[in-house]
Amino acid sequence: AVVTRFAPSPTGFLHLGGARTALFNLLFARHHGGTFRLRIEDTDRARSTQPAIDAILNGMRWLGLDWDGEEVYQFARADRHAEVAHRMIEAGHAYRCYLTAEELDAMRTAAQAAKQPLRIRSPWRDRTDWPADQSYVVRLRAPTEGATTIHDRVQGEVTVQNAELDDLVLLRSDGTPTYMLAVVVDDHDMGVTHVIRGDDHLNNAFRQLPIYRAMDAIEGGWPDPVYAHIPLIHGSDGAKLSKRHGAVGIEAYRDEMGILPEALDNYLLRLGWGHGDEEIIAREDAIRWFDLDAVGKSPSRFDLKKLEHLNGHYIRSSDDPRLADLVAEKLGFDHDDTRRRALAAAMPALKPRAANLNELTEGTAFLFATRPLAIDADAAPLLAGEAPALLARLHAALDAVHNWDTETTEAAVRQVAEAAGVKLGQVAQPLRAALTGRRTSPGIFDVLVLLGRDESLARIADHKA
Ligand code: GLU
Repeated sequence: AVVTRFAPSPTGFLHLGGARTALFNLLFARHHGGTFRLRIEDTDRARSTQPAIDAILNGMRWLGLDWDGEEVYQFARADRHAEVAHRMIEAGHAYRCYLTAEELDAMRTAAQAAKQPLRIRSPWRDRTDWPADQSYVVRLRAPTEGATTIHDRVQGEVTVQNAELDDLVLLRSDGTPTYMLAVVVDDHDMGVTHVIRGDDHLNNAFRQLPIYRAMDAIEGGWPDPVYAHIPLIHGSDGAKLSKRHGAVGIEAYRDEMGILPEALDNYLLRLGWGHGDEEIIAREDAIRWFDLDAVGKSPSRFDLKKLEHLNGHYIRSSDDPRLADLVAEKLGFDHDDTRRRALAAAMPALKPRAANLNELTEGTAFLFATRPLAIDADAAPLLAGEAPALLARLHAALDAVHNWDTETTEAAVRQVAEAAGVKLGQVAQPLRAALTGRRTSPGIFDVLVLLGRDESLARIADHKA
């Protein structure tokens, strides 16, 4: 059965690239009826933080990237990593290396002078005269001949000459495991069959495979995983996505940019993967269609406009009570605030024009504004000149309306325009300014109905002649 995993290091935010990696792992697992696991790679004790762990867990929950089982914390498994390293020493696939810092420096300098990358083949590879009281690191006895080939599901066939690999460190001198060892042991122990991750890890795969192969030779049951290294996300200028592009934690898309999680998921899915011309892809369809073969080989570019376009779509198709809840949260209304009902009622009129939840929230301002209304500078001219006289006629006409719905109020407003010999827009504009304090708003008859009869008449009266 397929087992995938997302293995973030909690040293910063959950960012777009990480969320997309998690999404692809989830979709691949679900597509195959397999399992999707989460592993927090917290072995870097200095840089791993609890807020970063929380940001990852919360971000994944928000995006509906629900992992199976408990998350695994890598640091807690350090004894197991050391145990594997020692088994490798016993079986001759790893060795104790007593190179001193000075000796390593000398090797580094020599490599630099020869303009060669530093590839460590320690003299301790074949020595057993281990000094008794000196600390050592454990190094992999890496293959020196032949080549290693990966049949990557995204990158295709990639080969590296084994002579280019080095005897990487498995355990540090304090006995703690390195990233290379920990990843392989954890992936094996968690039964991971498919390693889907950013292509910045492709080089690591060539350093991790010899560990699998050594352990497979020792005890069997350590098959190579299937690798799929997916291209990174770049900014709109083609450079790797970074802070400079406003790349921020996932929660900023929720809290600051007002993005819906399904919009971000849909956007991330389309970033580097496609299914024909489909743009709007629901989760069930994504699970049905997802495969690694359709993951592109070249980096994808982040495009905020596309994200907002998708977001607008999901806002329009979202149900009103949910949107009202999200807006209420932004407005700080507590749970039994009666204004929530007014919000839900306003959503059908407001959601067609909002690209994000901030705009949607902003659009509700007129509902809760108190009289006398603050009038936007650009709306003030609409209340000058003929406007007070027109508003007086509107007030009289609407005052006679008792059946306060969009049809009846519209008929009354149209009659006023006709009687005054002006176009509907010429009465609608001052009416809008009086009711909302703005130049733009939802349809004016929706505004009248949402505000109700008394409040509408009072707001008009504030500006009539
Ligand atoms: N912890 C690594 C990272 O956050 C990922 C390791 C992996 O996916 O193999 O970059």
